[in-house]
Amino acid sequence: MCMCNKLVSLLVLAVLVPASAAAAKAVPTPYGAVSLPFELHQVPDAPVYYVIGRSGVPDAVNEGHTSNAGFVVTDAGVVVFDALGTPALGYRLLQRIREVTDKPVERIVVSHYHADHIYGLQAFKEHAGAPPVWAQQQTLGYLGGSAASQGEDAERRLAQRREALFPWVDEKTYIVPPDHTFADGATFEVGGVHFELKHLGPAHAPGDSIMVVKDYGVLFSGDVIYKGRVPFLDSPQTDIAHWLEGLDYLSNLQPPPRYIIPGHGTASEDMHKAVAVTRDYIEYVRAAMRKAVRNFVPFDEAYAATDWSRYKDLPAFDASNRGNAYRIYLEMEAESFD
Ligand SMILES: [Zn+2]
Repeated sequence: MCMCNKLVSLLVLAVLVPASAAAAKAVPTPYGAVSLPFELHQVPDAPVYYVIGRSGVPDAVNEGHTSNAGFVVTDAGVVVFDALGTPALGYRLLQRIREVTDKPVERIVVSHYHADHIYGLQAFKEHAGAPPVWAQQQTLGYLGGSAASQGEDAERRLAQRREALFPWVDEKTYIVPPDHTFADGATFEVGGVHFELKHLGPAHAPGDSIMVVKDYGVLFSGDVIYKGRVPFLDSPQTDIAHWLEGLDYLSNLQPPPRYIIPGHGTASEDMHKAVAVTRDYIEYVRAAMRKAVRNFVPFDEAYAATDWSRYKDLPAFDASNRGNAYRIYLEMEAESFD
């Protein structure tokens, strides 16, 4: 065999290896293959793990992986917080749990019933022994399709996701309701680890709740803290004043959590910084719209005159900012009539 043949086969190998490595990343699940990297992170010095979704609106490119989720391993079982936005992603999370421990999933706590956090519950129900799902009682309105849940009506949203996230969300996808609900909060212990749940809604959604893993100083904040994108305020269910109170509650948590895992965006070790991103945005929009309402400036004019440069490069700015500003403008107008 001459050298050139060897060279050719080496070249072929060099081309093939990266391609096959890329293909190997597509991991099959019973609900469709997940090809995005699905990296598991660990909180330093604690058996607490999490995955971080991509910024933006759920679509075929991000495969619906836009939210965060995590889990805590104890001697008696695993406590999961949130379940991601498709059954396939829920199954990937379960696979990651199985890489760390063979302990059963003891329960799943859900921060709020919105599609990007709950469709993965189906995978746990069908492949992890249907562990009980815990959520705040106002999340039940989501499933009832009541007037109060029009901002994120369960059936309408499922129909939309069957289009936007096919094949990961299809006609076999269904919503798993909570098995246990709480009102203001709940505390529980699993394998000697102490957990505290607290309702901070209505904020971004009626049921918004957080979970503190007390023994490790870890806060799972759900969507009360939004990072890495413009928060979504433009829903009839969003209660902006109460959301700000929830952020104050987090700022004053004692002892301050040493590690914060938000519902969207990267984890943080600074509570004040984590809260500030969401709070500063809300307060900036409120101040601009309050001034406009006081001076009887029409919305379109006020919006055009506002300096949005500090937010315009954030993901979801184009999708959310104008609607957010308009909702706040209407709120300020209603307040000025009181
Ligand atoms: Zn979310």
